[in-house]
Amino acid sequence: MYGFKRWNYFSIFVIEKILNLMGRRKTKNITGILRVEGIPYHDAWVGYKCVNCQKLNNVIIGQTLLDPSKAYEICSWECENCGFIHSKESDLPFDNWEDEYNSSDSDTALRFWQGFFRIATEHPESYWKQCNVCCRILPFQAFSKHSKWGPLERQMECRSCKGAINAVLNPKRTKQQLHEASVRRRIADLFLEGENEFIDIESLFKRFGNKCFKTKKPLDIKDRSSWQIDHILPSKWLYPLKKENAALLSNEANAAKKAKWPNKFYTNNELIELAKVTGGNLKLFTSENPIINTSIDVNRGVERYLQVREKSDLPKRVDEIKKILQFYKLVDSLTNENKKLLGF
Ligand SMILES: [Zn+2]
Ligand SMILES: [Zn+2]
Repeated sequence: MYGFKRWNYFSIFVIEKILNLMGRRKTKNITGILRVEGIPYHDAWVGYKCVNCQKLNNVIIGQTLLDPSKAYEICSWECENCGFIHSKESDLPFDNWEDEYNSSDSDTALRFWQGFFRIATEHPESYWKQCNVCCRILPFQAFSKHSKWGPLERQMECRSCKGAINAVLNPKRTKQQLHEASVRRRIADLFLEGENEFIDIESLFKRFGNKCFKTKKPLDIKDRSSWQIDHILPSKWLYPLKKENAALLSNEANAAKKAKWPNKFYTNNELIELAKVTGGNLKLFTSENPIINTSIDVNRGVERYLQVREKSDLPKRVDEIKKILQFYKLVDSLTNENKKLLGF
């Protein structure tokens, strides 16, 4: 209980912090992520522990990573806590070493400072970077790779901030995804318009013994509001409604089935029974994952989809159908003429 509360307070704190930053700072980029101004987010930092007082220090070095031998020659880093200077000119501060080993012109000091600067600068992974959302200076690994930005090719915000921001922005994304799903369904339905077959309701009832296939509840053919025809293999995966693909279900059972792949709703025994009753394809019915019906007449579907709309809608329709064809990996089924027409 305590742990949960603590986590909860923490996440609220993070989100509040982000919202605060969003409110205060008006700069907005295309990703919708709001950033703190003045953070040199393209710059690299070096992190090192003070050899005298052990405090962690960060030194900003700009957009060029340091070469260890060069760092050894030129760098002079002052601890912000105790003022100790980290440089090859400095004597070492170790009490348990003899003075001759601590002296800056000793061999031990030379090797020590070479090692010190190498550890801080040798590998790109040993550098640090500042997050321009939470302002923390964090190791490179705390930032995701980014192929476009800056010589250091890391994102401007740390992974934690990115995660929290994505959570805040998620509702928007979901809306976008919902829209895409509904467009996809609409196009799937249009694809299938010419492929659906007439279902003879009386023989459907006969085949299923006047009962809901899932619940075995008796159904009244005349009470149209109490039963549904289940698209066993969903139209979402481009299966038209045919005798072989139709199951008789009660309203409740059909509401639970929705557009689920058959294997996700029916038991194995039910699927075997279903294939017997309908004459459908048992291998498809029992497939673990959805399989797209590629035997659909894609070209006719495209023509139907482009016909039904106003001319002014056409460019949008073309875009939509292109996305769908790519999503369903159906581009190869297009005639050359249609490929050209759609700009593939
Ligand atoms: Zn110090
Ligand atoms: Zn951050």
